[in-house]
Amino acid sequence: MKNTYANWKFINGTLLVALALFLVNTAFSQTIINKDPRIEAAVNEISTDNMRENVSGLLKFHTRHNLSSQNRVDFGIGAAATYIERKLKEYAKSDSRFTVERVNYKAGGAGTRLGREITLTNVVATIKGNQSDDRVIALLAHYDSRSEDNADSTTFAPGANDNLSGVSALLEIARIIAGKEIGATIKLMFLSGEEHGLLGAAHMAQIAQDEKWNLIAVLNNDMISNSHSSDTDIRNNSIVRVFSENIPFTENEAQARERVFNSAENDSPSRQLARYIKESGERYTENLTIKLIYRNDRYGRGGDHTPFNRKGFTAVRICEFYENYDRTHQKTEIRDGKQYGDVIEGVDFEYLRKNTSVNLSSLMNLAFAPYEPSNVSTNVSSLSNYTEISWKVPAKGAKPNGYYLLIRETDSPVWQRKIFVKGTEIKIPLSKDNYFFGVQSVSDNGNESLPVFSKGLR
Ligand SMILES: [Zn+2]
Repeated sequence: MKNTYANWKFINGTLLVALALFLVNTAFSQTIINKDPRIEAAVNEISTDNMRENVSGLLKFHTRHNLSSQNRVDFGIGAAATYIERKLKEYAKSDSRFTVERVNYKAGGAGTRLGREITLTNVVATIKGNQSDDRVIALLAHYDSRSEDNADSTTFAPGANDNLSGVSALLEIARIIAGKEIGATIKLMFLSGEEHGLLGAAHMAQIAQDEKWNLIAVLNNDMISNSHSSDTDIRNNSIVRVFSENIPFTENEAQARERVFNSAENDSPSRQLARYIKESGERYTENLTIKLIYRNDRYGRGGDHTPFNRKGFTAVRICEFYENYDRTHQKTEIRDGKQYGDVIEGVDFEYLRKNTSVNLSSLMNLAFAPYEPSNVSTNVSSLSNYTEISWKVPAKGAKPNGYYLLIRETDSPVWQRKIFVKGTEIKIPLSKDNYFFGVQSVSDNGNESLPVFSKGLR
């Protein structure tokens, strides 16, 4: 009996050690996180006080309805545009590469949602990158607002969450990146016309196409500060959505055949951008899960990224996970003791800070990164349980320090492994049929380009 007891104790101890090791391995599997100190410092500069000041400052104009006054200094959409322009010019003072412009466009007309033709204004800040870098990264936020009746241009329509949350995030990013050396050109677009059919965004997407911008990524921020759901009463400020199109709107027949051949229905460039935002956003933002939503936007509702997708650009929408339908597009009033309308009390500034951090870190990591590799392909000409992947050095920009081969199982939403490669090819003992592969360029400081999906080459 004694022996048995001693043996049991021994076995029990071994089991406990084994169990402990198993728990350590699963709970704390070794993920190495390398942060770029420049990005970390910038993220630490985000101030909720500044964002609160800008949300309250813009609320004072009562409404930013697209048909509201353009000329009054204290009321309407014109006053809001002037406020945004003034703030941006203040930040631009410290940086000669920072310019601010008003982009006016004609909108509406008889029979349209606006009912008559008017001139609307987008306010666009441009922070020029290095001279040899022609890449452009755009952040969008619409600044117009509406109440319950979208024809009513005088009723109080604070739009604190929809969308002063996005506006104040972009203003804070403008303030922080002014004077900083970042590789690519950054455009911060404060758009009008959203509530009447994404008009300001459509105008900017047209300009980007006509002027042949090398626009590599568009991040639309629309409603990023509400953390309390209506109906279901959930309070959660630790999860945010990134919407991305599945099959690109602009896909042609040849591209469709290629997609089917590669089973690449989850690998559109916009989906790669969404994954990229998840990785870089979570790297620099604690207490936040970035949830990929496999949709361009919500049912029957669109956003300013969509006109960019329709022109073939890589564009996603960042949006709160839980919406509050008592606040969005509601008349501001108290009914049965309950507050309705999009008031500042519905803005969760800590949540807004985290979502601003997601934007800033993704934007900076991408702007610092080398250009993407080209001709990324998987050799599918022979049957082998090895996979050969090759690519070419980017045609433009600084030579990357190296590349990451990205690997994921076919049913995984995100890339699971990264292998650093110095050259431009790799042969690995994994079957090409069981995984998806991608390649991204990496800078000396570890900043990654957007991943390029590896396509089968016969
Ligand atoms: Zn909106």
